[in-house]
Amino acid sequence: MPRRALTTLLILAVAAPLALPFAYHHSLAVGLLVTAAAFASHLALLSGTLRPNNPLFGPVTTGFTPAHPDEIWLTIDDGPDPHDTPRLLDLLADADAKATFFVRGDRARAHPGLVREILRRGHGLGNHTDTHPQATFWCLGPRRLAREINDCNTTLRTITGTVPRLFRAPVGMINPFVHPAAAACGLAVIGWSARGFDGVSNADPAGVVRRILADLRPGGVALLHEGRRNSVGDAINVQAMQLLLDALRERGWRAVLPPLPTSAFRLIP
Ligand SMILES: [Zn+2]
Repeated sequence: MPRRALTTLLILAVAAPLALPFAYHHSLAVGLLVTAAAFASHLALLSGTLRPNNPLFGPVTTGFTPAHPDEIWLTIDDGPDPHDTPRLLDLLADADAKATFFVRGDRARAHPGLVREILRRGHGLGNHTDTHPQATFWCLGPRRLAREINDCNTTLRTITGTVPRLFRAPVGMINPFVHPAAAACGLAVIGWSARGFDGVSNADPAGVVRRILADLRPGGVALLHEGRRNSVGDAINVQAMQLLLDALRERGWRAVLPPLPTSAFRLIP
């Protein structure tokens, strides 16, 4: 959405409710008109915020221009995880595949060696906020949002000596304050084009992979997670990764890291 249109929408969302008493004082017709404007502007902002990867407030990358027509991008959220990360790294190595790990700052501080190992094995590292406040992320204000993004970046810089260039919002929820906070840290906002809902409890790894493959195309971004267990303690995400890597090999697709900076990235329209 153009910046001027977004600014107008935000002004409308704030001003219309404030103007309601005066509007109804003026006349019923004006009151109803302002009520409709307030309702419509809030509905637009809310639907934009809650819809994953929405581009309403700024560009969201959901694909890349592959250097070869067999390339896809694997992304793994919510780590590092002391059980899953080493196993995922071994599976990726066996398949000669690369992935971007969007890590949480608090978990990175708890497992700094795993963060360094991700980079040492040639994978990418992204910012996935400091504490992953997924229940409230959609409505966080600018100060808390900036802190979530800054603190994760500071942690990753302390651990690795480098700062990430990529940011993924928890559950892909993007409110009007996400892009300014990410841009202030030099981060591009990254979404996905295919997901298998492997972040939910008791997800079936085969079903996860089936859902990902239904939407994944060369140049696409697959969203995976780490650290989830089913009711009998199986590592859902590790199993799903093994199945997905097998399926990619059968299709002749390769998991690569898109080149940085983000010129090769495709934004959702
Ligand atoms: Zn997450």
